[in-house]
Amino acid sequence: MTAYETRTSNPPALRFERLAQQDEARAGILHTRRGPIETPVFMPVGTAGTVKGIRFEELERELDAKIILGNTYHLWLRPGIETIRACGGLHRFIGWERAMLTDSGGFQVWSLGALRKITEEGTEFRSHVDGSLQFLSPEVSMEVQAALGAEIVMVFDECAPGEATHEVAQKSMELTARWARRSRSAFDQLQAARADTGYVEATGLSGAQALFGIIQGASHSDLRRTSLEGTVEIGFDGYAIGGLSVGEEKSVMFEVIEEVAPLMPSEQPRYLMGVGTPEDLVEAVARGIDMFDCVLPTRNGRTGQAFTSRGKVNIKNSQWARATLPLDENCGCSVCQKHSRAYLRHLYLAGEMLASMLITHHNLAFFLDTMRGVRQSIRSGGFPKFRREFTERLNTSGE
Ligand SMILES: [Zn+2]
Repeated sequence: MTAYETRTSNPPALRFERLAQQDEARAGILHTRRGPIETPVFMPVGTAGTVKGIRFEELERELDAKIILGNTYHLWLRPGIETIRACGGLHRFIGWERAMLTDSGGFQVWSLGALRKITEEGTEFRSHVDGSLQFLSPEVSMEVQAALGAEIVMVFDECAPGEATHEVAQKSMELTARWARRSRSAFDQLQAARADTGYVEATGLSGAQALFGIIQGASHSDLRRTSLEGTVEIGFDGYAIGGLSVGEEKSVMFEVIEEVAPLMPSEQPRYLMGVGTPEDLVEAVARGIDMFDCVLPTRNGRTGQAFTSRGKVNIKNSQWARATLPLDENCGCSVCQKHSRAYLRHLYLAGEMLASMLITHHNLAFFLDTMRGVRQSIRSGGFPKFRREFTERLNTSGE
């Protein structure tokens, strides 16, 4: 099997440098206009212009996150792109100077279920903020993402449920393909018109935004292949696998990744959208993925659940009432250096906001450290051992 060839502009908006590969697992550097990002990489999710429960200083200085996600749907509805444009783009507005990726809003609108109506033109829906009728299309999504000014922009796609029939998934995938062409064309016009608020000069790069295509097709391998071929034919700076972790069995998810990832252009970054737990990340890296995002470390942090090297820890559990040990004895984060499970449990039960903040901090540290370990092991040729030991340790003392 050979990966499809693809086109890039010159100079490119992004450059992906591959440093090492072990079986399908790749380690590399993604050069962006706001600095290099070592891959595989986990991107904390900053939905509404904030990675919930943590300050940017900590994300940058202590956790050293190189790239975060912004959310088109949420930022478009509130505060709106006129506000963000007036404040100089999303980087300046929120005070984050490192790289960002914005999603297209397609997934959030899709998640609204019965509240939305999909046509060839785009998606009509009611805003969750004020109930007003809104319309999102490839052209609108590209315009919003240019105003936000992230380094990486995603095409506007339609997502089919994980268990979608072949017929439903095919229609959805074909619509995504037509929307990908419209996204590409609108994006190119916006770049030519310098609508991107995040433009910066960068050596060897164009300084413009990069656009990623999204491969859909639910769990049907013929549709995934057709989607991949069509997406690569249009030509993007990177490629994402969308529509996974949306209700299908986990084994199905890994089958799709295993089949699709090795066929994706090998010279460009491969992004698995919205997945997953630390073990999912390691398993997807083993199948050829370079980039990840997921709300789990922040969302679960707010509900008192910690991810640790020995599995999940539910801080509400009474067994931690007098436990002086940290969340994770193998973790070097400032929360684990300072605070006990007993204290975190007390904060959580007392409804103190610091509980969410501290557990979120640790969870993000754990996700980012895991990826650091993954990268080092691929580079040194020890990834199979890392993967085996990581999985074994996770299962040694869950709850
Ligand atoms: Zn920690």
